Amino acid sequence: MSVIVQKFGGSSVATAERIKAAARRAVRAKQAGDQVVMVVSARGDTTDDLIALAQEITEQPPAREMDMLLSTGEQISVALMAMAIHEMGEPAISFTGVQIGIRTDSTHTKARIREISTERIREALREGKIAIVAGFQGVDEKYDITTLGRGGSDTTAVALAAVLKHDATAKEEERRVECEIYTDVDGVYTTDPRLVPEARKMDAISYDEMLELASMGAGVMHSRSIEFAKKYDVPLMVRSSFSDAEGTWIVPETEWMKQVVVCGVAIAKDETRILIDGVPDKPGVSHRLFSLIASQSIAVDMIGQSFGSGGKASIGFTVLRNDLNLTLATLKPLVDELGAVIRTVEDVSKVSIVGTGMRTHTGVAEKMFAALAAENVNMKMITTGDIKISVLVEKADGAKALKAVHSAFNLQSPRPGAGVNGEQILEEFKSRPDHRIGDAVRDLAQATSRLAGMEDIVISGVSLDDEYGRITISGLPDKPGNCSRVFQAVAAAGISVETIVQNLTAVDQAEISFTVPKSDLRRALIRTQDVVRAIDPKISVAGDSDIAVLFVFGVGMRTHTGVARTMFGALAQKGINISLITTSEVCVSVMVELARGKEALQCLKEAFQIP
Ligand code: ASP
Ligand code: MG
Repeated sequence: MSVIVQKFGGSSVATAERIKAAARRAVRAKQAGDQVVMVVSARGDTTDDLIALAQEITEQPPAREMDMLLSTGEQISVALMAMAIHEMGEPAISFTGVQIGIRTDSTHTKARIREISTERIREALREGKIAIVAGFQGVDEKYDITTLGRGGSDTTAVALAAVLKHDATAKEEERRVECEIYTDVDGVYTTDPRLVPEARKMDAISYDEMLELASMGAGVMHSRSIEFAKKYDVPLMVRSSFSDAEGTWIVPETEWMKQVVVCGVAIAKDETRILIDGVPDKPGVSHRLFSLIASQSIAVDMIGQSFGSGGKASIGFTVLRNDLNLTLATLKPLVDELGAVIRTVEDVSKVSIVGTGMRTHTGVAEKMFAALAAENVNMKMITTGDIKISVLVEKADGAKALKAVHSAFNLQSPRPGAGVNGEQILEEFKSRPDHRIGDAVRDLAQATSRLAGMEDIVISGVSLDDEYGRITISGLPDKPGNCSRVFQAVAAAGISVETIVQNLTAVDQAEISFTVPKSDLRRALIRTQDVVRAIDPKISVAGDSDIAVLFVFGVGMRTHTGVARTMFGALAQKGINISLITTSEVCVSVMVELARGKEALQCLKEAFQIP
């Protein structure tokens, strides 16, 4: 016997027929001997309709009342689901978030789970009932209803699976938990199949790859739910509610994944790029900017701080379009005080490639940029993470860019993890120990304290890299292909490029910085100079070997708006200047001067309490 948490999204419960189909699935799992918990979303477009209804009454509905309203959608679904199961002759009981004690903070409409009690669910399961839980909702200290942000039912499901799995008071077999996410697609694809019909379904993907893809619009799962799954080692399967086909497993990283240089390409279309120019290049400035934004719970996605010149840096970043007005209003006073200007605000598409193998393979960026250049797509901003490279392009170029990159990496063809070793993956997965609970559960007190902070950021490591040197090109004409030419030349010389940051700094000009191994710096510099001089002899190229790059790795770097704040804050306090910043979902990196590298590392370790 195991516990199976089955989550059904809005489309999987849209009609009476579909509710019955979902009910049948749960009943089948129960009759096969498992304990079944269902987590259900609001039916079809209910949540959207409720939002529209509120808009008819007022443009600015109070967030508390919004949650009161939105939570009703899921309440309807759980009641109907329980009825459907009763009708099939199985006992079932529905619960709201309040009833099972999903405690959250009070950030209405984007609340974060603090704690979940397992008592009522266990009781129901032990009585042989199917437990049906309303997704997306919780309750704060004052018993006010909260919601977890759009798409939040995934988070409810994974969080429930996590607590059930780590519940030290339960019997061993009751701690064997899997989570199935039923949706209207049959798995995770190499890219959005609606935009690129050749996209291929993947058999398995790592938590980190999924995290990097999900936040960027792969759109299959809510990224916070994947953070949870990774942190609590909950095996997840995304699968179709309309068929019995195996879906895509989301699991810890395994050996074969290292050969997959790019597993998928994602596009995010609802981002806005903001560029602040003339920011004093002094310690503490980025900290002030990003902590202000964090104070409003606005999630900043991509951050690229450029090197700048004359003591001034440019900071480019993206936020979701919905958060734009709030972001601008929040930043205005500080930008004025700094004597900086908000120079660009524009809607963009972000295209990102993701793959575990990127860590060890070279020439990946170059290939992506060349594919874009061949399609005449201009790159407005570039940032790189450990297993991801993201490029901002004109909003209208998004789909074209996505197609070009997808075929450049030949993602339509079978490969390990997508059509080749499916059987082996399953074997490997099924032969894992029954419950990979870790040490926490062995010590009840420790387990409870971990669960109480279950949504706190988990920073898994901080590292310093002083083996790299930096090359910065300023004043590169902002034309498709220029950037690609640079990286092609560097790759052709067999030099591997680590971090890349590109911003459009002045009108029609880009600044690109990238790092290469110190031993290759001179060669890379000469190559770069040759290329850019051919474009325009006035473009300046500088190299610097006295730099250190600090990486902070963890989970949920973006949804936890406080990571950048803590990181930049700790460095600011020590008076350490940050010359470059680049972010991804699982990694934030900054560049500092070499002489202060070790000190910076120490200070970040303290800030994130890493021994
Ligand atoms: N009903 C909520 C929404 O549409 C939660 C969910 O579907 O996961 O955002
Ligand atoms: Mg929904």
